[in-house]
Amino acid sequence: MENITTSNSQETEKLGFEFANKITDGGIICLYGDLGSGKTTFAKGFAKGLGISERIISPTFVIVRQHVLANKKTFYHIDLYRLEESELQGIGLSDIFSDKNAIVLVEWAERLGKYLPENRFDIKFQHGEKDTRKITIQKIEL
Ligand code: ADP
Ligand code: MG
Repeated sequence: MENITTSNSQETEKLGFEFANKITDGGIICLYGDLGSGKTTFAKGFAKGLGISERIISPTFVIVRQHVLANKKTFYHIDLYRLEESELQGIGLSDIFSDKNAIVLVEWAERLGKYLPENRFDIKFQHGEKDTRKITIQKIEL
């Protein structure tokens, strides 16, 4: 497990950028933490790290946003904040998670319930003093 403290949003974005370079082959990244804890900020850096130049906004109202990368893999940015539990089965999570060519980042992964994949990275965000955020990264494998 890795523990990081960032002091501003730029540092959290940089962490996301650097993390993207570790998982170019595909993978599922689950982000946890309260509103404003830095999940979307991390996701912005992560998307830049994947080579996406489009502006990354929180997909809160879209639930799933999809980007095709230069290497033909697909990046899915999912935000479950506004999704009702009863709607979870309708957004195609099983297909997305079983796509070996996908890189998937999920905000509010607390809400995945039975869809939580077995192999994944868990990244937890917590507010600290002032603008600091405590971020832990853990690889979860069977
Ligand atoms: P979430 O997606 O978890 O709701 P956001 O990334 O959208 O959170 O928002 C984080 C907010 O906190 C932004 O307004 C950002 O500028 C601010 N902020 C301040 N310090 C940090 C930090 N160390 N890391 C990330 N965001 C920070
Ligand atoms: Mg967000």
